[in-house]
Amino acid sequence: MKKPFLITLIAIPLLFAAAARAQVPADRADLLKKMDARAQHFADVSHQIWEFAEVGYKEVRSSELLKSELRAAGFQIQEKVADIPTAFFASWGQGKPVIGILGEFDALPGLSQEAIPQQKARVAGAPGHGCGHNLFGSASDFAAISVKEYLAEKKIPGTIRFYGTPAEEGGGGKIYMARAGVFNDCDIVLTWHPADANRANVGSNLANITAKFRFYGKPAHAAASPDKGRSALDAVMLMGNAVEFMREHVPQETRIHYIITNGGASPNTVPDFAEIYCYARYPSMPVLDGIWARIVKCAQAGALATETRMEMELINSAYNVLPNGVLATMFDHNLRLLGGVHYTPEEQAFAEALSKTLQPGDGLKLGSQEKIQEISHDVSYASSDVGDVSWIVPTAEMNTATWVPGTAAHSWQSAATSGMSIGQKGMTLAAKVLAMTALDLFTDPKQVQAAKADFDKRRAGNEYKSRVPADQKPPLNYRDKP
Ligand SMILES: [Zn+2]
Repeated sequence: MKKPFLITLIAIPLLFAAAARAQVPADRADLLKKMDARAQHFADVSHQIWEFAEVGYKEVRSSELLKSELRAAGFQIQEKVADIPTAFFASWGQGKPVIGILGEFDALPGLSQEAIPQQKARVAGAPGHGCGHNLFGSASDFAAISVKEYLAEKKIPGTIRFYGTPAEEGGGGKIYMARAGVFNDCDIVLTWHPADANRANVGSNLANITAKFRFYGKPAHAAASPDKGRSALDAVMLMGNAVEFMREHVPQETRIHYIITNGGASPNTVPDFAEIYCYARYPSMPVLDGIWARIVKCAQAGALATETRMEMELINSAYNVLPNGVLATMFDHNLRLLGGVHYTPEEQAFAEALSKTLQPGDGLKLGSQEKIQEISHDVSYASSDVGDVSWIVPTAEMNTATWVPGTAAHSWQSAATSGMSIGQKGMTLAAKVLAMTALDLFTDPKQVQAAKADFDKRRAGNEYKSRVPADQKPPLNYRDKP
């Protein structure tokens, strides 16, 4: 009696393993094998972009590199879209469906970091890839090219498109691309973001409006003739105070933050110019519109009280993300099919050393990168210009573990891991999940229809309307000091 029982114990896991493998059809297994063979090449692409570390709207070399890969693979490239030198899209194929994949590639100021588990800048004070957008753009490029080859080989109709979207970090590249209509003929948009875990998302985030408020006063000697001056800095401080009082009287989930980007040139001259850069966020755009109108009143009040002139330049206005349940389920399925991220002994040692520098908390622990988390329903308190795209086209985002579990975005730890093999492994997983999901959509039109039905239901008749005025140019120099 015991022997057959033991055989059963051994046989059941083997059967399960065989069943799990059997879920990847043979031709897809072939695609994955080809992607494995090319993974190092795209890891190198991501590493070059990590080294370029170009900030928003200045990603000239990064976007050129991604374009050159797509061009070599036979994609048609539309350059400089929406009057942005580094924005582009690349298409291959014909007709419907049009499946788009988003790629980002901008770095963050001040986050230069070596690919080591201790904090050390490559170039002191220089930008770095603390949000892993070097991996983001490269994985999406990799996925689009892999999908193209599969479609060509199997003669499957449809169009695969890669969107090169600059300046996600505050510059809102996608909102200007959305205003230019580049997403309008797309049926589905797939995207991802580097993270410390593998998961599909059906949650959302906060809508965001940001602007620079500039005040113009009159200069005068601050001691000898202060009565002749009108202080632009006073206007900034009054605006800031008014916003602080307002903070008590806004809905609980509101976030308002600002910095003074210019407070005058010298204490002994009444400042004739000052600038404040302000963000406001809320989970719904129509509610945020009302909050924002009150912030503008605070700015007007500062100008009125100080007899200065105020100008507002809108920088960004991202919608909250409209999730898609159908696409999230497809992402989750493919993540589970492919499994998590497994470290080599060297990577494990790197991850352990880096873990010691992380804040101990109740976040994910080392080892969890091997697992696929449950589909997330969380509302993140951050914002992204993917939001605007998601109100135009059914859109879904997933994450892979490119960072050591417990790592936060915009940290030196995320910049470090984004420049070495741990990040690159997560990136290859992302490319595979994107490619598999895109192919599921190309080969099963019912899924495209289901995703559209979910989109219509969630949108509930609310049409997308860009918050950017029609005559406003993209803020190509928003990272420059005033
Ligand atoms: Zn990011």
